[in-house]
Order: sequence, then C-alpha cells, then structure tokens
Amino acid sequence: MKIETLAVHAGHAIDPATGAVAAPIHLSTTFEREIDGGYGRGFMYTRNNNPNREALERGIAALEGGVAAAAFGSGCAAATALFQALSPGDHVLAHTDAYYGTTRLLRELFLRWGLEATFVDMSDLAAVKNSVRPKTKLAWIETPSNPLLKIVDIAAVCETVHNVGALCVCDNTWAPILQRPFQLGADLVLYSTTKYFGGHCDVAGGVIIAKSDDEFFQRIRTTQISGGAVPSPFDCWLVLRGIRTLPWRMRAHSENAMKVASFLHDHSRVSAVHYPGLSEQPRHEVAARQMSGFGGMLSFEVRDDRDAAMAVAAKTKIFIRATSLGGVESLIEHRASIEGPGTTAPEGLLRLSIGLEHPDDLIEDLAQALG
Ligand code: PLP
Repeated sequence: MKIETLAVHAGHAIDPATGAVAAPIHLSTTFEREIDGGYGRGFMYTRNNNPNREALERGIAALEGGVAAAAFGSGCAAATALFQALSPGDHVLAHTDAYYGTTRLLRELFLRWGLEATFVDMSDLAAVKNSVRPKTKLAWIETPSNPLLKIVDIAAVCETVHNVGALCVCDNTWAPILQRPFQLGADLVLYSTTKYFGGHCDVAGGVIIAKSDDEFFQRIRTTQISGGAVPSPFDCWLVLRGIRTLPWRMRAHSENAMKVASFLHDHSRVSAVHYPGLSEQPRHEVAARQMSGFGGMLSFEVRDDRDAAMAVAAKTKIFIRATSLGGVESLIEHRASIEGPGTTAPEGLLRLSIGLEHPDDLIEDLAQALG
C-alpha cells in the first residue's frame, strides 16, 4: 500500500458492535474479566492498554514500517522512557542542536541518574566518529535540527554507531512521512505527536516505534505501563485521526515553506535563512537524498539582532507568536528567549512553523512585518 492509503486505514476498522466508521472512544478504565478469571478480550486496565491506544500504536507502527510502538503522554515522556531503557554507566551520543528539552533531560536528569552523554554536532561525521566510545549504547539523531535546521546524514551516523554495537534513535518529529529513518538504518524512531501527527495544536503525545520487538523495546514497554506516562483514550483518538491526513498535510507544509524560504532568502533585512530545501544550504544534497520533501519548519535571522527580530514578530498579523509547531496555523517565535539561559540560538533568529494558509498571504504578512 502507498503511504497515503496506509495513513487513512492503518489502525482503523469498522466497529464490530455498531458498524461505526469512525472509531468509538473507550473511556472505561477497567475491563470485565472472563468467568475463568482471564482477559480473553485483551484489555484489563487502561494504564496497561486500552482499545484506542492499541489502535494508535498499531497504526503508527504500520505507517512507519516498524513492528511495534509505545505511545506516551508527550514527546518528552517518550524520550524519558527511552533513556530509562539504558543502564547507569551507558554512554549516549546526542546532537548539540537537538530539541533543548531533550538535551535538558539528559543534562539535568539522566547525568545524575548515571548516564554519560557527549553532545556533538552530528552534521559533522568526523566529530561523530571521534566521539563514539566502546560504552556508547545509543545515538540520538535529530534532523532537520532545532532551530538551525542542520542536516544529519542518518545512514552514515547509523553505520558509525552500529560499528560499536550501539542503537540509533531518530527523533523524526520535524519530518514525518518525508523522511523514513528505518530505511536509512535507524533502530528506533521517536515522535512528539503533539506536532504534525496531531496537526491541530490540540493534543499532546509522543511515540517510540521499534524495528524489532526485542528486549530493549520491552524495557520501554515496561516503563510505559509501570511508569504510566500514557496518553488518554481521547488523545490517542485525536492523534490517530490526525494521521489520516498527515501525508497530504506534510506535502502542503513543505510547498508553503519552500515559497516562504525563497522570499526570505531574497529579503534585504534577512541575513540568513535556514531551510534545507534551499540549494545553497549546507548539506542540501544530504537532505535531498534522505527527504522526499523539506518540511514545514524554517528559521531566519534578522539583521541588527534581538530587538529587530522581536519587532518583526510583534508586527505579524497571520503568524501567531507562539511556540511549538506542526499545526495548520503558522507560528513565529523568537527562539533564544523561549529557550532562556544557555540557549545557543542566535539572538536575531526567528523560527517559523509554516501552516496551511495560502503561501501568498504568509509572504505578504512577513513582507509587511519586515517593513
Ligand atoms: N522532539 C522535538 C524535535 C520537538 O520539537 C519537541 C517539542 O517541541 C519534542 C521532541 C518534545 O515533545 P513534547 O513537547 O510533546 O514533549
């Protein structure tokens, strides 16, 4: 099946009890036991599993080409479960330009817990090779990265870390559908489903998909069930509904972003545009090789730095000043001030999540805001 067809049907079935085409939401926290004490219908207690979560996990695993998936209440809860599947003393290799919430988890929680971590610019393969150790158990790839849209060569990093027996996880939150990490060698794929999967800025979630249902994935499953950072049935229902239009939305987000990036590239008040679809971008050829579209996220730098950037964000009328990404509405944010102390985002940088409005209107809005 092609990805558009899978997206519409994976995880969905006609409800056998009623014939309902749209799945019911099962709010029940507990499920009836059989006379013999068993749970022949497969569900016991909602933290362990429920029909909506099972449908979501089945649907996402099929869409991604994995064999199993574990859904969580947020992308950070998914990342936490992944790090908890490691053991104290294990070494993690992470991207310096990864989502700051992920690097913060490593720095503030898991270093204390006994993990060792090295942060490296993963777009530099020589640096990755130099940072891998015999104790490395996991490499965390994120591409395009946040907020500089750096491109990591997924296949090359996977090969490098596999040589020392480490696993490779790809946080593919910014490029679902467009980038297929399993086909490039990743062992695990992670998403914040709060973003493009939900697609409407109205549900939080996260998921880990595994290429094999092995002992490592079972540790993630145990953390999911025992730790209990699980999504509600309604959250699962919303994310599964979002998947149905995901391939088409990703295509439209990418087309719009390419037009906006080209406009910004030619603007005299813009000193840099970070978008992997622009041919002169560093590592554009790697992005073109591993992505079927360049996604809806981009960032740009306003000349004269912080105050000028803030003034541009203050003037937009269609772009909403808000963090996050992946919804139908376009968002603009001054990244350094949302990340706070320790940020590596340039002070003049504005990050855009390009939505599904008409690109001409988005360009006109930015043109008037840039003045
Ligand atoms: N990964 C990436 C790339 C993100 O952009 C985010 C959030 O912005 C996360 C993970 C964390 O997801 P959540 O906010 O759902 O915990």
